[in-house]
Amino acid sequence: MFDQGLTVLRIRGIPVRLHITLLIFLPYVAYVASSQFSLIASSLGIPREEMHLPPLAWGAILAVGLFVAVLVHELAHSFVALKNGIRVRAITLMMLGGVSQMERDDPEHEAWMAFAGPLMSFGIALASYVAYRLLPAPAEIGAALVAFAITNALLGAFNLLPAFPMDGGRVLRGLLLRRLGRTRATRIATTTGKVMAVAFGLFGLLSWNLILVLIAMFVYMGASAEQARTNTNELLRGIPVARLMTDRLGEAYADESPRAVAERLLRHNLVGARVIDDPRDGAGRREIGVVTVWDLARQLQGGAAPATVGAVMPVDVPRAHADDDASRSFDALASGEASVIAVLDEGERVIGLVTSAEIQRALALAGALRAAR
Ligand SMILES: [Zn+2]
Repeated sequence: MFDQGLTVLRIRGIPVRLHITLLIFLPYVAYVASSQFSLIASSLGIPREEMHLPPLAWGAILAVGLFVAVLVHELAHSFVALKNGIRVRAITLMMLGGVSQMERDDPEHEAWMAFAGPLMSFGIALASYVAYRLLPAPAEIGAALVAFAITNALLGAFNLLPAFPMDGGRVLRGLLLRRLGRTRATRIATTTGKVMAVAFGLFGLLSWNLILVLIAMFVYMGASAEQARTNTNELLRGIPVARLMTDRLGEAYADESPRAVAERLLRHNLVGARVIDDPRDGAGRREIGVVTVWDLARQLQGGAAPATVGAVMPVDVPRAHADDDASRSFDALASGEASVIAVLDEGERVIGLVTSAEIQRALALAGALRAAR
C-alpha cells in the first residue's frame, strides 16, 4: 500500500515519496483550508477588499504548507529512530498524512520515537503563533499564520489520541510495555484504536463527514494489522528458524543462463539454488549467494533477463542462523524489507530458505495445535 509513490527528495538518505492519493486529496484540503482562512480573516476583522490574494489562493498555500508540516512531523519520528540505530526505509506522504516506514520497531524507544512527531507539530504551531504575534506582517499573512498554527495544533492533538496506529497509541504501548509485556500492551493499544475507530466512523456517518469515515477505516485496519502481527509473533516465538525453513535447494553456476536454472528448478521441484562462483576445475569453488524461483520468474517474465544467474541473484538477502528465533525472520518478511531469508549453518553455508509461504505453513499448524489444546 505504501510502496507506490514518486520519490521526490532524500533527506539524510531517507527517500521521501509522494503517494498518488495525496495529489487527488490536495485540492480538497486547499478548499477546506480556504474556508478556514476566510473564517479567521473575518474574525480578525480583515476586510476582503484589503487582501492581495483570494482565500482560495491562501487555501492552496496552506494546503501545501500542511503537507510540508506533516513531512517535518514524520522527520521528527525518523530522526529519533536513526539516533537509536533504526534504519528508516522511506517516508510516504499520502492522503491522510504521512507514514514513516522503519526497518523494525524498537519497543525500548518506541514511546519517545512516537512522541517526537506530535511534539514537532506542537512546536510548529507555537512558532507560527509567535510569528503572528511578533512579526510586523500584513494582516492577511497574520491570518494565514493563525490558520497554520491551529491546523498543526489539531494535527498534534489528534495524533496523540491513545489509539494504535496513531502516535498516541504507540506512546501508550511503549509506556505499558515494561509492565505488561509486548503482547498485552499491544492488545490494549490496538483495542482502544478499534473502539475509537468505530466511534469516529459512526460520528462521521451521522455527520456526513467522509474524511472522518476514511480516517476511521484507516485506524481500524492499522489496529487489526498490528494485532495480527503481534499474534503471529507470539505463535512463532521460540521456534528455531531451521524448523520451518525449506531445504529444497539446488545448485547453479553463476555463469549459467537464468532460463536453464529455472527449468532445472521446476523439473526437480526446488524453490531455489545456491549460486556457485566456479572455476569448473573444482579449485576455489565458492558459494556466493542464493537465487529463488521468484527472482528467476520475475526476471524471465520481464523479458530482458540478464544473461547469467549471477546477475539475477539478489545481493542483499538477509541471513539468519539455523537456531535463530523464527519470529525475527517473520518481522523482516512482514515489514517488506525482504521477500526471502537465507538460513545458514555454523559454517555460514546456506542450508535453507524462509519465505512467507514457509511462515504461513508454520502458522497454520501452530495456530491449529494451539486451538486444539
Ligand atoms: Zn506521527
